[in-house]
Amino acid sequence: MKRYLILVSVFLLAQLFAFSQKEGLSAISRESLKSYMEFFSSDQLRGREMGTVANEIASLYIKTSIQRMGLKPDVDDYFQHNPLTLVKNSPEGSYLNLKDNSGRQIFSTDSIMQLMPLSETLETEGDLVFAGFGYEDEAGEYSDLRDIDLKDKVVLLMTRTPELAGSGRKDISFSFATEEEKIGRLLKRGVKAFLYVFDPGLDEQDPFKTIYYQYSSQEQVISDGAGALNLPLVFGFIRPAVADSLLSSSGRTLKDLYDQILTTGKPASFNITGRSVAIRAAVSSHRTDGRNVIGIIEGSDPVLKKECVVYTAHFDHVGTDSRGDIYNGADDDASGSMAMLELANAFMKLKKKPLRSIVFVWVNGEEKGLIGSGYYVKNPAMPLDKTLLDINLDMIGRSVTPADTGTFFGFDIDVTKKGEVMMYSKHESAELDKIIKKAASQTGMSIRDMGADIEAGGSDHESFWDKGVTAIMFHTGVHADTHQLTDDVDRIDFEKMEQVTKLVFLTGYEVANRRERIRIDRKQSE
Ligand SMILES: [Zn+2]
Repeated sequence: MKRYLILVSVFLLAQLFAFSQKEGLSAISRESLKSYMEFFSSDQLRGREMGTVANEIASLYIKTSIQRMGLKPDVDDYFQHNPLTLVKNSPEGSYLNLKDNSGRQIFSTDSIMQLMPLSETLETEGDLVFAGFGYEDEAGEYSDLRDIDLKDKVVLLMTRTPELAGSGRKDISFSFATEEEKIGRLLKRGVKAFLYVFDPGLDEQDPFKTIYYQYSSQEQVISDGAGALNLPLVFGFIRPAVADSLLSSSGRTLKDLYDQILTTGKPASFNITGRSVAIRAAVSSHRTDGRNVIGIIEGSDPVLKKECVVYTAHFDHVGTDSRGDIYNGADDDASGSMAMLELANAFMKLKKKPLRSIVFVWVNGEEKGLIGSGYYVKNPAMPLDKTLLDINLDMIGRSVTPADTGTFFGFDIDVTKKGEVMMYSKHESAELDKIIKKAASQTGMSIRDMGADIEAGGSDHESFWDKGVTAIMFHTGVHADTHQLTDDVDRIDFEKMEQVTKLVFLTGYEVANRRERIRIDRKQSE
């Protein structure tokens, strides 16, 4: 009898929850998502860059929205304050002076593009070395560095490698993996400053006209491990004409040296004699509140409500360019942020809330190096060992169009089809994989499993991975408008956005609502 009763009540409960899910699902609509998106990716929000008034307005919009829905704040405030210092390259105070042996100035320019701002203004001086591509192959057969003394030198080098340049490809201008390796080797050799120039084989020659300029002109956060470079040296890009001026005492041009390396297959590195440079790389700084917005829906079980599922999406974007044109960041990441408002509303509509709590964290400063999520995992609303899962949404509103070709930061553009979404997961839990699979079939979606290696730069789920918390990211792919002025609301696939929102609703609901914690089969390797 007792057993029968339990069976009946379990059956009824299951029905109740199935009904609950439907209640939530029917509260998610593309029309509603559209209206959120229209505001959040409007020109009036000026690209929502952290450290700007527009970013504060964006956070206020989220806060007042969830307040109205009835979510609970973290402690007594929906804002999770994060006071920090932002630094920015200051081109006005920056220069490069080329001098001869007697210290006489030969040439001067303020056209140095610092890829990232330094933590503070830096002045440096040194002799010049031309180091070709600054490249060494693994076999040690080719080395631009072998026969030159690099200690305390200002190094002039080209982007890419002889192989890539020789291949005739013109579209990959700067591969972070390759350059990182090169920079690492040069640092070990004790160089004082880097002056990069795009190699003459590339379409892009003027660093101020590349996508990197957008980053170079943005404010970065000073904090451990993120944002601004804490390197005691200058790291700048110069134009080819400036490189030619630096090389002038040798009687050779950059193009001469480039051609020589490619035709002979041999390095052409040398000390540029009779010349030295003085460089000043200036930065300006200001204080800001890089606040996150947090809203909580308490679980319905008095014990299990102390555990939670977290949703994250970054509400910041990259602001405006030097001409004042606005990066609206509709897909990146108004889409994830506004999907989370829709999710919060859907969960609030449930008469019976899931057993565990749901924590919504709109993180700030993702674009400046996962600042907000990094801060959250150090100051979580609920302890991380009680956090079963983070579901991160970053760019969930696009499907492939014929315009989506080419590369982004050296990676091939790869957008999902209609009805398809990418998932990044460490696959620690077969149970979770199963839940997601079911949610996908319920919402008519197909999942492209990307594994844990995020190709085109990570997102906020990585902050959770770093702390050993199970986390997954949904993403519809890097497209031709990513970090461009054209990432606008009219290019969003709202049918897909609705599907993804429903998929993650079902996933989060299931994980939060199972009596037992989802089983972790294997811990993360890192
Ligand atoms: Zn993003």
